[in-house]
Amino acid sequence: MKIDTIRACSIWRALEVVGDVPVLLIMEQAFLGKGRFQEFLEETGIVRSVLSNRLVKLVETDVFTKDTQRQKGYRLTEKGRGLFPVALMILRWQRRWEWGARGFEVRMFHRECGNETIPQPTCVECKTEIDPRDVSWAAGPGLSQVTPVYGRRRKQTAAASAKRGNRTMTDSVIELFGDRWATLVVRACFTGINRFDEIQRDTAMATNILSDRLERLQEQDIIKAIPYSANEQRFEYRLTEKGRDLYPVLLALLQWGDRWFADEKGPPLILTHTPCGHKLQYVPVCDQCGDVLDISNTGFNL
Ligand SMILES: [Zn+2]
Ligand SMILES: [Zn+2]
Repeated sequence: MKIDTIRACSIWRALEVVGDVPVLLIMEQAFLGKGRFQEFLEETGIVRSVLSNRLVKLVETDVFTKDTQRQKGYRLTEKGRGLFPVALMILRWQRRWEWGARGFEVRMFHRECGNETIPQPTCVECKTEIDPRDVSWAAGPGLSQVTPVYGRRRKQTAAASAKRGNRTMTDSVIELFGDRWATLVVRACFTGINRFDEIQRDTAMATNILSDRLERLQEQDIIKAIPYSANEQRFEYRLTEKGRDLYPVLLALLQWGDRWFADEKGPPLILTHTPCGHKLQYVPVCDQCGDVLDISNTGFNL
């Protein structure tokens, strides 16, 4: 029997921790300054049992520490704070593409220049904004294949329909990165894999699951189907502009995965910024003044 495996790049490793809707909602609140169980419960709308379960996992994976003294709640570790660029890039995407879709809007401010900011993903070497079409991907020394293990059914649980009052807490970007199957489809498109059969081979998905995700991603206007054969109904799946703009989130996940999960062989994927020829490393910068945004100089307004 053929065992299906997929490319275990750092994005995949990162998703094993954060590729889950409740975890994304909890992390968002942590970066917005929340830390107590009751606060997470109220602010995310996640049901109590799911919240308990995810908080235990986040402590086990060393993203949070639990402060047992006087119920101070949960604090981000260094590894957890390392997810700040992921959160920032998710907020950036929401700000640009689905502003208001959640009945819960977060504006970002750069404290040093005092302006509202939309972070720009910028190459550390040449200081230009990164366009995914200017990045080449190559297998690195640490690339291995893994057999994906997870449930086959789409999990539209209480968590996926998290609500605060009657306001929904999720949107396309949270739904996407909260679903590892959907993220793998988008990863495939970014790495030049665009046809159904090729995506199926790259992701090891059952065809019905793949069809379901392709349909959903088209509904969300993240990918579009383009016919490539004149005589037959055959399609390539291409990212839309809205879809391409998810790139900084993937990059942020990749850098976090490289930092915390790469083994001694080296990184699984090597990305090159083709305009300058350097290995791609990015930082979020303020679009108003050009300085680097980090956890200490970025503020949020709800
Ligand atoms: Zn560059
Ligand atoms: Zn600024």
